[in-house]
Amino acid sequence: MIQRIAVVGGGPAGLTFARVLHRHGHPVTVLERDPAPDARPPGGTLDLHENLGQLALDKAGLLAEFHALSRPEGQAMRVLDVDGTVLRDWRPRPDERANPEIDRGQLRDLLLGPLDVRWGTAVTEVAPEAPQGALVRSADGWQEAFDLVVGADGAWSKVRPAVSPATPYYTGVALIETSLDDIDTRHPGLARLIGDGAMAVYGVNRGLVAQRNSGGHVKVYAQFRAPLDWHENPALHLGLDGLDGPDETDEPDGRAGLDPSDAEAVRSTLLALYDGWTAPVLDLLRHGTAFVYRPLHVLPAPHTWAHVPGVTLVGDAAHLMPPLGVGANLAMLDGAELAESVAAASGPGELDEAVRAFEERMWARAGRWAKFTTAGLERLVGPDPADALALFDEVQGG
Ligand SMILES: Cc1cc2nc3c(=O)[nH]c(=O)nc-3n(C[C@H](O)[C@H](O)[C@H](O)COP(=O)(O)OP(=O)(O)OC[C@H]3O[C@@H](n4cnc5c(N)ncnc54)[C@H](O)[C@@H]3O)c2cc1C
Repeated sequence: MIQRIAVVGGGPAGLTFARVLHRHGHPVTVLERDPAPDARPPGGTLDLHENLGQLALDKAGLLAEFHALSRPEGQAMRVLDVDGTVLRDWRPRPDERANPEIDRGQLRDLLLGPLDVRWGTAVTEVAPEAPQGALVRSADGWQEAFDLVVGADGAWSKVRPAVSPATPYYTGVALIETSLDDIDTRHPGLARLIGDGAMAVYGVNRGLVAQRNSGGHVKVYAQFRAPLDWHENPALHLGLDGLDGPDETDEPDGRAGLDPSDAEAVRSTLLALYDGWTAPVLDLLRHGTAFVYRPLHVLPAPHTWAHVPGVTLVGDAAHLMPPLGVGANLAMLDGAELAESVAAASGPGELDEAVRAFEERMWARAGRWAKFTTAGLERLVGPDPADALALFDEVQGG
């Protein structure tokens, strides 16, 4: 009997799940909140690891296409100190395929392929139904029952409450993303400094990473320790002296607040925060456009739940962790493994057993990575920049 399967979310987890099911000839309903694939900027480049994201693509039959699209040279990584001294300059061998980079938009299109997605469907609630299955409701009044609903709807999942009361909490690290276009022609000095892949600079309780995407596009990530409400008074919370950027507002209570969506105010705050760092770091901030504020949240780890027949979670919805290069990889492998298990199940009992067994496997794997990435964030954005360098050496050394 064909089981009715829905996946909520068309990110790396949901699309990989759907694509692997599609490969096995199993129908699947994909529900995505965005009105269209290109409704918003897809975000920065992703490195897909051989034993995680690439394994998932192999299960989807898409590994060869991935290798044709991806950028192995993008694995290059440089580390500088805040004075600009190059501390590490790691370049991949020409045949190195451990972690090639791919733009998120390219990955999305690769996974989408022939999939039929119900775009513009913002799921509001998933209600489990006895003895198995769940009813999905969306903001536009649509609702439908399925034998299995898979929550692949990211950090602020609307499916998660059906299985777990857990919610993400703030890590104490804020991230502000900006980007530069046509770096090779407009800023050749910065392009040389970043190299073919990424450049990272680590200071005390703050860091900055610049990462090449395809087509001369560079994403810059400024990360710093700060309370969640730091922007209500950046001078106080970030310990900045003499911060009086052009957009600073003097509120009636005397505090100087910052609107995180005010690009020029964010820029002048970051320039003050990174004051004294090597000139190229400041140039990356001076020339960056479209600052996006992302306070880093995580789920408690390990995040497990009492199994609920008919509903499960994959990817960030199940195990949101600090962004240290594995979240999308794990999301894709979750999706691929669950899809294989679902495709092999021939009745409701088998389906439930397959999901139960998958959850055990996912929890164990995600728990290990959550421990690693949580400790990693402490070291990368922490009081001792030498510790960030030591972590880099440990990872590069395998
Ligand atoms: C700055 C940064 C850099 C990162 N770099 C890397 C990296 O290099 N490598 C790596 O592996 N990981 C990286 N990550 C982590 C990675 O982005 C996530 O782990 C990954 O995107 C998780 O995939 P997902 O499919 O589970 O969730 P998401 O990518 O969040 O996708 C969820 C999807 O669900 C949709 N959705 C949400 N709510 C609803 C709803 N109610 N109804 C319907 N649809 C909904 C969303 O629109 C979205 O399409 C990074 C993260 C950040 C913040």
